[in-house]
Amino acid sequence: MGKILLKAQNLKKEYGRGELAVEALKGLDFEIEEGYFYAIIGKSGSGKSTLLHLLGALDKPTSGELLLEGKSVFSMNDKEIAILRRRRIGFVFQSFNLLPEHTVMENILMSLYLDNKKPDEEQFGQIIKALGIEEKLSYYPDELSGGQRQRVAIARALITKPAILLADEPTGNLDAASGTEVLHLLKESAKKFGQTIVLVTHDMEIASKADRVIQILDGKIHAIYDNPA
Ligand code: ADP
Ligand code: MG
Repeated sequence: MGKILLKAQNLKKEYGRGELAVEALKGLDFEIEEGYFYAIIGKSGSGKSTLLHLLGALDKPTSGELLLEGKSVFSMNDKEIAILRRRRIGFVFQSFNLLPEHTVMENILMSLYLDNKKPDEEQFGQIIKALGIEEKLSYYPDELSGGQRQRVAIARALITKPAILLADEPTGNLDAASGTEVLHLLKESAKKFGQTIVLVTHDMEIASKADRVIQILDGKIHAIYDNPA
């Protein structure tokens, strides 16, 4: 058993109130081990995105607790949570979420700029090489293909050396070929940097590339299993 990076304790999320309330997560307990690639799978509406938002401290649970690197995430105030998100959590979204008026280079380094930090030059070089975007640094997002944009988003997520990298259907807006390529690059670059990934997908083919699978059914954990190596 490796180091436990993240621990969810009886995590519950309810949307709305009274008769209209939806119990999206019904008490989840699990641990995320450092250095592993996790896939969260489950049907549409099972609670995957809700869970990923909580893991990324983008939203708060109705009850329950999340420990990241031993620290209680939801006891932090909003400012502390914002800093945690910027420094310790990397996000890759289905819709890329790049800043259109900034170059690829600026997009990748934005979180570091906001912290007045300089990139680790060697690591920056390794990341853009691993993702094959060395030639695109001065381009703007709208000059890139979908697959290239998602590779930039992965570089942006890796550059801060986050404790955890979260991805919600990251290949959902890509054609099959570039989706496969982006997934491969995400997996390989994460392995290279010892990066822990939690990726949400409804695609079993994608889930089969993960080290470990967390299956969500109707707001509860149905199973956790390792894929064959
Ligand atoms: P998934 O990502 O697995 O498709 P979600 O986490 O998006 O599932 O949704 C889980 C349940 O919570 C669904 O029933 C959905 O309709 C509901 N839900 C999600 N977000 C909201 C919201 N902001 N307000 C109300 N209900 C929501
Ligand atoms: Mg979803």
